[in-house]
Amino acid sequence: MKSTDSNSDDEPDPDYILSPDDLLLTRECVVCMRANSLDQFEKSYSNECQHVQRTVCNRCVYQHIKHVLKGESRNNVSCPEPNCPVHFTYATIRSILLSHGATDLFHKYDDQLARQSLEQNPNYFVCPYSDCRLGQFQDMTRNTTACITCVYCQRMICSFHRTVWHTDMTCDKYDQCQTSANHSTKLWLKRHTKLCPKCRRPIEKILGCDHITCICRYEFCWECLANFQRIKQHGLHHHRITCSHYSIRNVVCTLL
Ligand SMILES: [Zn+2]
Ligand SMILES: [Zn+2]
Ligand SMILES: [Zn+2]
Ligand SMILES: [Zn+2]
Ligand SMILES: [Zn+2]
Ligand SMILES: [Zn+2]
Ligand SMILES: [Zn+2]
Repeated sequence: MKSTDSNSDDEPDPDYILSPDDLLLTRECVVCMRANSLDQFEKSYSNECQHVQRTVCNRCVYQHIKHVLKGESRNNVSCPEPNCPVHFTYATIRSILLSHGATDLFHKYDDQLARQSLEQNPNYFVCPYSDCRLGQFQDMTRNTTACITCVYCQRMICSFHRTVWHTDMTCDKYDQCQTSANHSTKLWLKRHTKLCPKCRRPIEKILGCDHITCICRYEFCWECLANFQRIKQHGLHHHRITCSHYSIRNVVCTLL
């Protein structure tokens, strides 16, 4: 199957071969810098656009849309004219893609939008079991409990949390368990993570000695955060007095 989307990208386009007589009727595109005939700038794509004249040619507008649709922010196809804040509508995108023969890309875009609007429907559920993952409608007005059954695999789903059903737990109880689990993770991190005194990056220590070297190259004592260079040069009395490595005797570092 040949993709209609990318067949003519690198071939010279007959539109760009202009005779000297045509030059008066051309404009240089600010993106591709090619002199294009004026009809390449003709149609205004959006009524909201403030610019009187377009400076980006049809082909570059199309390339721009193609680029955005393949990236992360598919819902925000902005007008490529410099400083134009307008976002293209579905109809605009459709007409540009189809006029450039990019039917495949248009259908992909269209499917994506359809899926997104489904996912916003409160009666639409995707089965959370990884070996199922099928989407389905469940009429939630008929349900008295949050527990619903997947119409495909017959397993139980929590319609409120949109997860696998939490057996023997109400949704409230499940929430409580989740928060306390989160809470203990935070406590654990607090106990095992410190910020580098110099660059403030969090540093995690599970095992090992208390002599820490951060990726910023700053060296410090894990327990009291004292500067380790100074401890190495001058002795253990440079730990804080409350630190277990502190020693009044001016011996050279034994921590190394
Ligand atoms: Zn151009
Ligand atoms: Zn615009
Ligand atoms: Zn299922
Ligand atoms: Zn639940
Ligand atoms: Zn650091
Ligand atoms: Zn110390
Ligand atoms: Zn050490």
